[in-house]
Amino acid sequence: RSDAVSVAPLLTKLKRDCATPLPVLQRVVDAMSQAMRTGLAADGGSGLPMIPTYVHHLPTGNEKGLFYALDLGGTNFRVLRVQLGGKEDRVISTEFDQVSIPQKLMSGTSEELFDFIALGLAKFAQKEGDEFHITPGRKREIGFTFSFPVKQTSIDSGILIKWTKGFAVTGTAGRDVVACLNEAMERQGLDMRVSALVNDAVGTLAGAEYWDNDVSVAVILGTGTNACYIEQINAIPKLKGYHSPSDRMIISTEWGAFSNGLPLTEYDSDMDAASINPGEQIFEKTIAGMYLGEIARRVLLKMAQVDGLFGNSVPQKLSKPFTIGTPDLCSMQQDQSDDLQAVGSILYGIAGIEANLNARRTVVEVCDTIIERGGRLAGAGIVGILQKMEQDSKGIVLGKRTVVAVDGGLYENYPQYRAYLRDSVTELLGIEHANNLVIEHSKDGSGIGAALLAASNSMYK
Ligand code: ADP
Repeated sequence: RSDAVSVAPLLTKLKRDCATPLPVLQRVVDAMSQAMRTGLAADGGSGLPMIPTYVHHLPTGNEKGLFYALDLGGTNFRVLRVQLGGKEDRVISTEFDQVSIPQKLMSGTSEELFDFIALGLAKFAQKEGDEFHITPGRKREIGFTFSFPVKQTSIDSGILIKWTKGFAVTGTAGRDVVACLNEAMERQGLDMRVSALVNDAVGTLAGAEYWDNDVSVAVILGTGTNACYIEQINAIPKLKGYHSPSDRMIISTEWGAFSNGLPLTEYDSDMDAASINPGEQIFEKTIAGMYLGEIARRVLLKMAQVDGLFGNSVPQKLSKPFTIGTPDLCSMQQDQSDDLQAVGSILYGIAGIEANLNARRTVVEVCDTIIERGGRLAGAGIVGILQKMEQDSKGIVLGKRTVVAVDGGLYENYPQYRAYLRDSVTELLGIEHANNLVIEHSKDGSGIGAALLAASNSMYK
């Protein structure tokens, strides 16, 4: 019963529901740029959050001195210091350290978490080597990358809206996270100052722009997803009355929240209904690393139940949510052998699944279908941002070299996903404009980016 023929109807339906031909991609592009405009006009409507970051000045290359960065966005926090040497010398030296956050602190009190972070920072600062020099009389300044939803009103403050990604810390929501960190540093006797608060997308944009002035968009494709870009102040109606020190500002789109016009399946709606945030983050649930493996698992489970894909019984572990991770899909897709040996042993390793050759072929097709949709929709999202910028600038964005900086474990590690993303961008833009567009992987640029933003927003300027 486990021949390819018997699963064909489910596979055919999956492929049809996930299909992203050009008209579907173009519909997503148009809906994305419209959702951006709606979000720039006012908060709380049907548009994207489009969060003003109050980052007006990107690094110029002239930044000099010693700066620190602190990155909190998942189960680790990273600390980094960088000695900047200005136009000629650029980055003279860097050092970093990574500390994992004890599970217990992820559901403790705000003071406990920030004390732990401040202590980690204090230990790191104590080990500052001879190649780092602080200008006499100055405090050490920090760029703080904080990748949770915050409402900012200035570059160096932001109110936590809510913890996400498994954090359930009490007492931080509704508070300024910079103040929380400052108070903890004081308790540790650490005399440093937070000069910039950013998320990882903004840090990546700043870090990439430092080396290449044509960078105007940054995208994170990891466990979750987000994108930010450089916007004209006069194109942000909801900032009316704000006295801007410059004519531009980085906007964090929070595009994970996008949902219009996406090709979705029953597996997507089931996964969404079972999630901790039903109805939210639909674009993220279709394109980001946390979810792609889980969508595939749901498809394979149904194929096992309805069509006996893996024989007469349904492998028990396949019923358990998140048993299959996106890295598993990736490893299976790299198998080029005729008998799909690696696919077989990965399935066995994950869930004790015994799959014959036909079943293995089906599994690979399922993976490819989910990854193709994810990569192509991510590409459409990028073109949505570019189209919005292009319309406002009357054609000067795509008429010249433009760079999109991308970071995140999914983009970095999954070659097929990367290729689908690029193909979709090329199809949408047409070959001529696509040739002007550079999509570059900006690895771990966000830490240095945050330090650079601390420098460009230094209190000593
Ligand atoms: P985060 O987004 O959590 O800050 P990363 O940018 O490192 O961290 O992304 C990690 C995510 O990248 C994982 O959740 C996973 O979905 C994806 N990922 C990591 N390694 C691979 C891989 N080899 N193949 C595909 N996806 C991967």
